[in-house]
Amino acid sequence: MKKFCFEKAWTHQGWVSELNVTVDDRGYISNLGDDDAQAKPIRGMILPGIPNLHSHAFQRAAAGLTEHGQSGKGDTFWTWRQVMHRFVQALTPEDQEAIAAQLYVEMLKAGYTAVGEFHYLHRDPNGAAYADPAEMAWRIAAAAGRAGIGLTLLPVLYSVGGYGGAKINHGQRRFVLETSEFLNLIDILSADFDGNPQLRVGVAPHSVRQVPADKLHDCLLGIAEIDATAPIHIHVAEQIRDVEEHLRWAGARPVNWLLDNAEVDDRWCLIHATHLNEDETCRLATTGAVAGLCPTTEANLGDGLFPLAHFLEAGGRWGVGSDCNISVSAIEELRWLEYGQRLISRSRNITSGGVGASTGARLVSDAVVGGAQALGRPIGAIEVDLRADFIVLDADALRFHGRNEAQWLDALVFADGPNPIRDVMVGGEWVIRNGHHADEIEIERAFRAAINRLS
Ligand SMILES: [Zn+2]
Repeated sequence: MKKFCFEKAWTHQGWVSELNVTVDDRGYISNLGDDDAQAKPIRGMILPGIPNLHSHAFQRAAAGLTEHGQSGKGDTFWTWRQVMHRFVQALTPEDQEAIAAQLYVEMLKAGYTAVGEFHYLHRDPNGAAYADPAEMAWRIAAAAGRAGIGLTLLPVLYSVGGYGGAKINHGQRRFVLETSEFLNLIDILSADFDGNPQLRVGVAPHSVRQVPADKLHDCLLGIAEIDATAPIHIHVAEQIRDVEEHLRWAGARPVNWLLDNAEVDDRWCLIHATHLNEDETCRLATTGAVAGLCPTTEANLGDGLFPLAHFLEAGGRWGVGSDCNISVSAIEELRWLEYGQRLISRSRNITSGGVGASTGARLVSDAVVGGAQALGRPIGAIEVDLRADFIVLDADALRFHGRNEAQWLDALVFADGPNPIRDVMVGGEWVIRNGHHADEIEIERAFRAAINRLS
């Protein structure tokens, strides 16, 4: 058991001073508020950790590789995807682990204390199954364990090459699984992770583009038998072309089609959902599902802008993900989410929620609560029975100077300067102290070696 006294803690009541927090031996908050002379004082502003609901770890190693012109006709998501598919061809299990460990340390330093890893690199470089069907998944879990980040592992069902049951192309051969192979993988991981509060298994039919209706149906039936509460994540309507092709093949827009053909509820997280019409926006908001928004990736790939203002008016829930990991910063995701909306609407403080309300506080609050729901983890607030996942902000950081309590989260999100996240705790263990991880030198060395092999 550990006891801390937080100088300033952000709770549902707003900022609270001198909050005593007891953490049990399994890493859960077991008591709040009782005065205790033994409690170790923690200086600074303490927030619940920010969940990162969508990551493809291996893509971290391709950051900076896709920013040269590739096509005389104009580059798009689809030309980016060709480069990404080429990049992944030679990646080994050792590379996967080395890249993910470096990424997860970066995430912790950036304020993410849990990650949803949308894991679709299943097969070996020739497209054959590994002897151990969970080989690549174990590497993700090992990297998360070494870094100390909470993991919701979302193995992906990737069935076909595209709409109309298109054949898998060369670049997709490492991703594809039969539904039976996929369910077997979920079974293996669920049994192994059982009882470990740092690990959770969810599922991810890749998209309505890569998983046809009959396979989606079989997948959801199979999941219900293994774990009826498992988080379900799916990419949807990221590109205008996704909407156009879905209309052509299914006669309906993708989000409307999904809401008509699956029981979408609060277990679900729809990644991107960028291109929604008004009907889809309202319908999605009322399901209780989370919209998984990835503003820096969506900007990098030229996806478009999610209709956030309308979605919030309809009571929609959302969280953020670092997706392709071109940027690994919770602050940057939140800032870009608001800035995209300001640019398109030519107005300000879109997410604040009303006169006198803080935009920064609303952004952090929604992202923490929505991200916790999407990852299916007992996190998202400083409350008894939730995980002891915290970030500690340096009160002396220049961005906070002269700002009052009501402005701290605005300064966190919108003021610039060095990273103000000083310490990070996950499950009651300090994983970042004074901006450093205990294994960061060795983890970075292995990452550099992996990049050298892949370059
Ligand atoms: Zn994605």
